[in-house]
Amino acid sequence: MSPTGPTPQFSTAEYASAAETCKSCKQAISGNYYRINGMLACQRCAEQVRQQSPRDSHAAYVRAITMGIGAAILGFILFAGFVIITGISLGYISLAVGYLIGKAMKMGSGGIGGRRYQIIAAALTYVAVSTTAIPIGIYYFNKGKTEHAPTAQSGSAGAKTQQHPPDDEQGGIVDNPPLEQQNFPQTKPKINYVALIGTLAWVGLASPFLELQQSPLNGLLGLVILLVGIRIAWQLTAGPKLEILGPFQDKPGSALPSAAT
Ligand SMILES: [Zn+2]
Repeated sequence: MSPTGPTPQFSTAEYASAAETCKSCKQAISGNYYRINGMLACQRCAEQVRQQSPRDSHAAYVRAITMGIGAAILGFILFAGFVIITGISLGYISLAVGYLIGKAMKMGSGGIGGRRYQIIAAALTYVAVSTTAIPIGIYYFNKGKTEHAPTAQSGSAGAKTQQHPPDDEQGGIVDNPPLEQQNFPQTKPKINYVALIGTLAWVGLASPFLELQQSPLNGLLGLVILLVGIRIAWQLTAGPKLEILGPFQDKPGSALPSAAT
């Protein structure tokens, strides 16, 4: 927002000075005039500003989305990794994730922003943060399982499946399981991975709200932090606040076309 060089500055309002001079180059306006963010400007300055402002393009949008997805994955790994390694559930990482995604998208687009960039940035931040509940949940589920039943594999010999060859270390003696158990079909539950992934994704995406039901206070705090993270991503991918109106052919006099601003 602070370009070096002869870029006209329109941030400061100078309504008091002569109405017919360009607020950028301070020269008298002859012929057509423009309004840049409400400020009077001559044609030369308006064109200069227009040319210097980056133009949105499909390629820039695609690059921004690509970079944003990369940043979302990185943020996801950082968030889930931090919680799993430290055991601390720190919702504030949402802010870093939003920042990371916003910055990456702006980098990918070459500084271009706008509403369609903001929507992607917000969505990526939400997805990256909420789905961390999946690896974190799986980690704690497995951890709880191994802690509660650490010797589940060394159960009765009858429970052994064909995948487990007889243990020769134990003297090669393998009890023949009772007939009933032998004929019992190997009930290895067949996992429908598509359905499983679908369920996990759904639970992950809904986790900020599920958390709200489970522990309202923590859930609310997490949700608020997530919203702040989304807001960071949203603001970082905003478009330039540049509005160039014109050309106007009438001489800017007492009857200014947009004097209300
Ligand atoms: Zn000018």
